[in-house]
Amino acid sequence: MSVSETAYSHEYIHNILKRAHCQGPELSVGEIEALLSIGHPDGLESLYAIADKVRKDTAGDGIHLRGLIEFSNYCRRNCLYCGLRRANRRLTRYRMDQTEVLGVVQAMAERGIKTVVLQSGEDPHFTQARMVSLVEKIKSRFDIAITLSVGIRSQKDLIAFRAAGADRYLLRHETANRQLYSQLHPDSRLGDRVEMLHALSELGYDIGTGPMVGLPGQTYRDLALDIDLARRLKADMFGVGPFIPHPDTPLSEAQEGTAEDTFKMIALARIVLREVHIPVTTALTTLDAEAREKGWNRGANVVMPNGTPAPYREQYELYKDKRCLQDSLKRCAVCLQMRVQSVSRHISSGYGDSLRSDRQRSS
Ligand code: SAM
Ligand code: SF4
Repeated sequence: MSVSETAYSHEYIHNILKRAHCQGPELSVGEIEALLSIGHPDGLESLYAIADKVRKDTAGDGIHLRGLIEFSNYCRRNCLYCGLRRANRRLTRYRMDQTEVLGVVQAMAERGIKTVVLQSGEDPHFTQARMVSLVEKIKSRFDIAITLSVGIRSQKDLIAFRAAGADRYLLRHETANRQLYSQLHPDSRLGDRVEMLHALSELGYDIGTGPMVGLPGQTYRDLALDIDLARRLKADMFGVGPFIPHPDTPLSEAQEGTAEDTFKMIALARIVLREVHIPVTTALTTLDAEAREKGWNRGANVVMPNGTPAPYREQYELYKDKRCLQDSLKRCAVCLQMRVQSVSRHISSGYGDSLRSDRQRSS
């Protein structure tokens, strides 16, 4: 990142940290940027301790499980960083059929998972009618909340999905820097994503957004603006992960984001956004095997066990060397239970609805 901590006096950082616990939601973009520049271990320890305290006050000690199903890796878009991009001809493409998806949802429901995340590339095969049918079947058979993460869709589609029972929508804005966004997305505008997030919110969805960390040319100022955008959108979820290059994309030679910058983003998102769900993402776990424990102690309260079956899971290749490629849901449950206990927390038995006091609803 381009700004170093030395650009700010120790006293300036210390004063912001002193205010962060009580006045986090009022921190300015410049102040968030200053805290992102912290590099000294003592400063980081203070930042993480504040985030952990705010997490306890606002989200409690429960860790929410969101069961992820990556049901199609077809994509009509060409985001420069993503292995699923249309121009990547080396990728073996797949679509799961409805029976396969329902089978995974059943396995998740049997393990007590109360939220399923249906994620895919932007795949036109999944028309409004097909998505509605899938959402309706899941809602009629299982007591489970549904998050959709299928990219940009029309207003009509969003209305139909919501009427069918979809509860939440995850649409990362990727970066709040308009120019950087345009460089990375030859076929979409940042405005498209922001407008859709507003529309989702008005339709009654809980909304999730967030950026990637360490994109080429990205600065701490940009990352502070990412948190500010989520604050203005009143996001219910904030998903943040490091950018990890994929060899068959135009960014194959770019430097990856760092785990440390991502942890700082988790901590600051908690301090500023407060009543928000924050996952430890698979991308972060890919860079640091202990990311879940560290993340849960630095502001996060969610994890997303992957239920995508073989051989599809490997083929949903956003970046290289994704972690937990072989783990079954059963193995994943045992591993997570141990990790959650090791940080003296518990797995939540609730649906993980919005924490926002101005947006509470039951699933
Ligand atoms: N197609 C939908 C969309 O773009 O919103 C959902 C699926 S997309 C694969 C989910 C997320 O993966 C994106 O929002 C992006 O942040 C992340 N992603 C894609 N390529 C990545 C990479 N190389 N490193 C880290 N995260 C990546
Ligand atoms: Fe497609 Fe989403 Fe990947 Fe962009 S990030 S190429 S929209 S799957």
